Amino acid sequence: MKIIDLRSDTVTRPTAAMLDAMLAAPTGDDVYGEDPTVNELETRAAALLGKEAGLFTPSGTQANLAALMSHCGRGDEYIVGQHAHTYKYEGGGAAVLGSIQPQPLDFEEDGTLPLAKVVAAIKPDNYHFAVTRLLCLENTQWGRVLPMAYLEEARAVADRHGLAMHLDGARLFNAAVALGVSARRIADHFDSVSVCLSKGLGTPVGSVLVGTREFITAARRWRKLLGGGMRQAGILAAAGIHALDHHVARLAEDHRNAAALGEALGELPGMAVKTEWLQSNMVFVEMDADVSTAMADWLKPHGVLIHPGTLVRLVTHLDIDAKDIERAAGLMAQFFSDGHHLKDGQGKTPDYFH
Ligand SMILES: *Cc1c(COP(=O)(O)O)cnc(C)c1O
Repeated sequence: MKIIDLRSDTVTRPTAAMLDAMLAAPTGDDVYGEDPTVNELETRAAALLGKEAGLFTPSGTQANLAALMSHCGRGDEYIVGQHAHTYKYEGGGAAVLGSIQPQPLDFEEDGTLPLAKVVAAIKPDNYHFAVTRLLCLENTQWGRVLPMAYLEEARAVADRHGLAMHLDGARLFNAAVALGVSARRIADHFDSVSVCLSKGLGTPVGSVLVGTREFITAARRWRKLLGGGMRQAGILAAAGIHALDHHVARLAEDHRNAAALGEALGELPGMAVKTEWLQSNMVFVEMDADVSTAMADWLKPHGVLIHPGTLVRLVTHLDIDAKDIERAAGLMAQFFSDGHHLKDGQGKTPDYFH
């Protein structure tokens, strides 16, 4: 039985073609700067996103942390979303390891940070305050694609107040495909951008960070300090190059599958699909916690995996096709029609999105 894993797009396995590319990759010692495949990936990613230089990291968490530590020093501050990955889901790394103060703000319903509140949060130049240096956005944010007009306004605000801008673009290519624009056009508004290769792009490991040559030189130093200096990492970078070549345009298929899943689930009584948020490869559904827990337990032996909670996130990806969506939606419908939602569950709210 095929497992239909809707918990995240991180669960994808490398394809046979990707594994072939990894096996064939020339390698060297990347800490010496001598891995040709890592160098190629870094150059390719930078060119694709319109930046001078790139840096391959083992994780998005490390790419973001190296970025924050390159933009901000001890006693500096970054403005960030309350539920942003770089604030809430990275162990507090900016504060713990970077001595950087986060200034979290609530996201708007569309995943943007309200710019009037951003401006109000910028600290005056006075020794009582941390020095506000950076605005950090996330795109996509819980599946929501930031509007291009918003990015333009955010850039203008940042410029007016002397802030740099970092994009946590873990799913930048999902945003670009959803909007029908190049990823570069989105990246153009930012000083630095991190992109996950291990989410929708389907590699086993890795992220890339891009920015100016000077910025990447600083980030490379932080990457070493953070333990991210890898040696013959070309076998991993090769998966990234393969993904950039073969797994970007196909994200549209994940988006179609998510739309189909959202539509099917919208007809079920106990699942309130957040249709406004359904813009890329994620379906968010408000559910009773007991019911979603009972559903997760019931689906598992049927080969469908979901994380239960009051806000259930279902994610489509490379290892899920249209038939899998039909099957998963059919099983969820059966869960209700068989009355399993009426049994006592044990509500869990893991709030577990990344
Ligand atoms: C996954 C993710 C990251 C990075 O996560 P890693 O697991 O460290 O690669 C960063 N930001 C967002 C929004 C993510 O979803």
